[in-house]
Amino acid sequence: MPITKAEASRLARRTGMKQDDFSVLNDGILTLLNNADTKACVFLLTDSADVNAEGMCSVYEIRPKGCQTYPYVLDTADAAVRDEGCPHRSQFGPPPEGMETVLLNLEERIVREGSSD
Ligand code: SF4
Repeated sequence: MPITKAEASRLARRTGMKQDDFSVLNDGILTLLNNADTKACVFLLTDSADVNAEGMCSVYEIRPKGCQTYPYVLDTADAAVRDEGCPHRSQFGPPPEGMETVLLNLEERIVREGSSD
């Protein structure tokens, strides 16, 4: 999950973790790390690597914007769609009005921050 620098700072401040322990720069984009055992986000409380396993976000109240808007993502034409990779996508309706703008603005912030490194 791509995150902004401000979100990384907030997560570090509130969890007491070092940013390197939960995020990595991927092609200039700050991205949440996955746990080596569960293959899920390091903040997901789960003990299984099964994508359908139960799990709970340990930073739910301060989760990044991309987590809040998921499973809505931008497709290659910059249209808001439900992520094909989300096993729960059928439980969500079509992208709400304005979602595309929210996602485009978030993407622009994340990419712009990355390019300034
Ligand atoms: S919602 Fe929580 S567990 Fe899921 S990707 Fe975001 S930070 Fe990680």
